[in-house]
Amino acid sequence: GDLPLTVGAELGVPTIHRTVVDFGNLDHAATTPALVAVTDAVEAVQRRYGSVHRGAGYTSRLTTDWFEQARGEVGQFVGARADDEVVFTRNTTDALRLLAHTLPPRTNVLVFESAHHAALLPWTVARTTRIPVPTSAEESVTLLDDALAALDPAEPALVVITGACNVTGDIWPVADLAAVARRYGARTVLDAAQLAPHRRVDISELDVDWVAFSGHKTYAPYGAGALVGRTDWLDASEPYLPAGGATHTVSHQHTRWQEGPARHEGGTPNAVGAIALASACATISAHRDAIEAHEAELLDALRAGLTEIPGVTLHHVLGPAADGVGVATFTVDGYAPSLVSQVLADEYGLAVRDGRFCAHLLCETLFDGDGTAVRASVGLATTREHIERLVHGVRRLVENGPTSTYEHTDTGWVA
Ligand code: PMP
Repeated sequence: GDLPLTVGAELGVPTIHRTVVDFGNLDHAATTPALVAVTDAVEAVQRRYGSVHRGAGYTSRLTTDWFEQARGEVGQFVGARADDEVVFTRNTTDALRLLAHTLPPRTNVLVFESAHHAALLPWTVARTTRIPVPTSAEESVTLLDDALAALDPAEPALVVITGACNVTGDIWPVADLAAVARRYGARTVLDAAQLAPHRRVDISELDVDWVAFSGHKTYAPYGAGALVGRTDWLDASEPYLPAGGATHTVSHQHTRWQEGPARHEGGTPNAVGAIALASACATISAHRDAIEAHEAELLDALRAGLTEIPGVTLHHVLGPAADGVGVATFTVDGYAPSLVSQVLADEYGLAVRDGRFCAHLLCETLFDGDGTAVRASVGLATTREHIERLVHGVRRLVENGPTSTYEHTDTGWVA
């Protein structure tokens, strides 16, 4: 139909129990396959690119134009304000670490314990307050308010807000949390790694100071992400990568650094990645309603199907009523999550993920036993049939056990 759905069928896995099946991708929260619009853009650029910002030749000028245009499109994707800047990074991890590098002295960082490690851990130079995991959206706002009230208002503060939880898909009350931060004069950064692929993110509507996200979760290839937002802390800090590209002039006595995004983009940039990311952003924006409808239908079917199976529990951070992106995270009584995902892969040709999802503190709180669960996450490469197959697979596992005998080895479960 009108979805930019161009991946999936060609990924047929040839032998799942000697049957040819369409590989079912239910692991979009980890990474997303590139859209054809994106691979087309990459192919066109790969044939012609030249040195970005460093040459007078035709291909150099062309590539520089594409690269700077990509910056504008990525900014537009998250509703950047006129005076915001877009810094290209490798991914969300890199974007948040870059921001951590620019914190003014004595900055207090506040972050929920439920954050992905990329958002929980990069603040090594700052004093960090870890806010306990809330059980509802309302409680998250109260807990943040309490944590901010305990700080010295004369010191700078940065609140790290998760857009959507990578473990459960729950959408956080971003605008409410940002409003509380604003009341205390604190800055905010939104980790939009899981939100931006699924919902429109608008930096000015949400009233956050920075947004970080990853291309590889947004239907672009690996290696490109962005930090978008306020320029003041970024321009006042030493460059993230002090090197060529970040310099204005270098003399024996003094190095003068660039201002603007170039200051933190030392070295030759990943221009192809940036252009691919911009292409994904533009394609997703153009199909936003269709993507949301597709995912909502699949997620409803997935959650409804799993809920009916005895012994299966669905998990949430902010309560079952919280709005969520395309994730169903579950445990199955009597079966290790790692076995469930192995059975789904081997016997049903389905990709899901199990484990602690780079959010150990949250998983410890949410899941009994070894603190792991199974995460199925839908996206453009997921079909209704994949959902039916997954629900069927889990039901059969609960009713009859695995088709093969599995043994646990150092490398996981082996049939
Ligand atoms: N934040 C969240 C919520 C995530 O889900 C992820 C990726 N799992 C990250 C940050 C880090 O993203 P990346 O690995 O692309 O740097």
